[in-house]
Amino acid sequence: MITTQNLVRRYGDFTAVNNVSFTAEPGRVTGFLGPNGAGKSTTMRVLTGLTPATSGSATVLGKPFKELVNPGRHVGVLLDASAQHNGRTGREVLMISAKTMGLPAKRVDHMMDVVGLTQKEGKRRLGNYSLGMRQRLGLANALMGDPRVLILDEPANGLDPAGIRWMRSLLGSYADQGGTVLLSSHLLNEIERIADDILVIGNGEIVARGTKEELLRPNGTVVKTPNSDVLTEALTSAGLAFTVTGDGGLHVEAEPTDVGVLAANNRVVLSELRPGDNQGLEEMFLNLTASNARTEAAA
Ligand code: ADP
Repeated sequence: MITTQNLVRRYGDFTAVNNVSFTAEPGRVTGFLGPNGAGKSTTMRVLTGLTPATSGSATVLGKPFKELVNPGRHVGVLLDASAQHNGRTGREVLMISAKTMGLPAKRVDHMMDVVGLTQKEGKRRLGNYSLGMRQRLGLANALMGDPRVLILDEPANGLDPAGIRWMRSLLGSYADQGGTVLLSSHLLNEIERIADDILVIGNGEIVARGTKEELLRPNGTVVKTPNSDVLTEALTSAGLAFTVTGDGGLHVEAEPTDVGVLAANNRVVLSELRPGDNQGLEEMFLNLTASNARTEAAA
């Protein structure tokens, strides 16, 4: 379990993270989605004790990260896959982690298998690794101590679609065994593919949260009829909100079945009845990205 409560992190008079409260639950992959500069890394750095909070709290497994003894055995962290020294081999990086945590060399070989790095690749220096290979190595490192919590900043960056599918399956089975995963991305389609729960952050604030199904649920109902006067009257008396769409249809804030039943009860003929387009999250995200781009351009 990961919890933040009213978390604030300021740099001078700039507020990078503003009053952020959330919980990432065991057994779930929680996606932390926001455009570049939204405050994802800062939140994760506070969660992992690398940056102090200005105010509020951040705990992992009920404690501030710094109070965890041998933290790698409890929390796997991947914050910046490029941060390792280019002259080291992949296997050396993993051996150092294993030694720090008091684990045997065979754990390193096992983790390389889990993330699909061959022994030959393990002997190559990181300077020759692709970003995707670095992400796999970073994940092996994070999983090394068999932790109950994973905190991963942009782990899918640099992975191709097959790599993203692989990560979904790895993290999905980790969560199925009771693990907690908090994973960030600036790409909606990555989060859609990998996460069960979604937190959306923009300009340092949480702007939406929910399960993937809730946030991506089709948005209302689109209906078309030659008897639009009768239908709009029936919708109004039933207390269902609607708007008239550009092409002469209606967009109703209700489930298609409810609209269909209402139409049938009022003997209204329908020429079209379907779930509304699922643009809620995508539109919100595009707006956030655009507002962030403006903020960056102005800076
Ligand atoms: P994200 O991970 O969502 O891309 P960050 O958490 O890295 O966003 O950054 C959030 C904001 O905080 C950005 O505007 C960034 O420039 C600013 N920021 C991050 N770290 C520092 C720092 N050490 N000093 C000043 N500003 C910072």
